[in-house]
Amino acid sequence: MTTTTSLATHYEQFLELLTRDPRTAADDRDAPLRARYGERVDPSGAAEPIVLTRDEWIRDQIDLTLAMGRLLTEDDVVVSAVPYELSFIGAQVDRVIEMVGASVISVGTSGTICPMPRLLGLIEQYEVTALVCSPSFAAELAGLAASLGKRPADSTVRTIVCVGEACSTERLDRIGAAWAARTSALYGTPSAPTVAVACDHGALHLCDHRLRAEVRGGPRGELILDGSPTGEAVELWPADRRCACGSASRVLLPLGGMASAVRGPDGLVSAVDVERVVFGHSRLAPHFACAVRNGTFHVTCAVADSGAVDAGALRRAIRGGVDEALGVEAEVTIVGVQDWSTAPS
Ligand SMILES: [Zn+2]
Repeated sequence: MTTTTSLATHYEQFLELLTRDPRTAADDRDAPLRARYGERVDPSGAAEPIVLTRDEWIRDQIDLTLAMGRLLTEDDVVVSAVPYELSFIGAQVDRVIEMVGASVISVGTSGTICPMPRLLGLIEQYEVTALVCSPSFAAELAGLAASLGKRPADSTVRTIVCVGEACSTERLDRIGAAWAARTSALYGTPSAPTVAVACDHGALHLCDHRLRAEVRGGPRGELILDGSPTGEAVELWPADRRCACGSASRVLLPLGGMASAVRGPDGLVSAVDVERVVFGHSRLAPHFACAVRNGTFHVTCAVADSGAVDAGALRRAIRGGVDEALGVEAEVTIVGVQDWSTAPS
């Protein structure tokens, strides 16, 4: 098969790159080759440089290619709406889609050259079949399409790969329903674009052949990757707990940033835990925003038709549900989908 042959050729080129070392000076022989510069924002809001070695960059890309290869085919037309500037994920996703043999439309996330209405036009014009974007982006794009009188479920989009934001299965299902598409997720951090990839059962498996992961205060807590704290909360299954797919790689559940998690009566409570409770309510659109202020979750949800919903009753039900299930306080704001872009978070 053509695809298999060309992929194999690419891997050979990759492996050759990994073993080739053009340097001659003996004194820097042991230093790893640097390949790519990026930045991440630390908890205080300051930019922090990250440099990936060639080895990290390529091995990361191979894992992402294998994962995307299970989701996309050569016939797919894929929109990549992930960050490009000073980050790794955009360049990574582009290369990976090309490796799979599909075509790519890179729109990024800045919204300047290709704001969402233009993207909707491109999706129609080029019969886009797959989106790689954050769950929030997929939800907002569906909301915008609906507000323009279009039905996202009638579009050509059939696959949505969510990256860049922790998301519960419940919200992922809601996004899939809005687009009538199957959804999948990938997990990475600003310094390691591919940390865990989805199996056929929808579980995220840690790339543990390449990364050493621990959880501080585990099994739920801050993810430590290769000895460095990531600022990200996760749950990591113990090594002896196997996913139904049979893979020996540990299952990782992203829980969002440590900054948006609080200590509840039974341990760490994250924004994703709150999200799971929130999406127990079937009338909500797939939009979701959550921030923690003074130990209280501030949640913003959206409904498609605000006139048809008793917002006060829904707000009380969600608050009560979060308190009952998680033992934490939540302030809930409900807006109409059309007002989402100006809603508080
Ligand atoms: Zn699995």
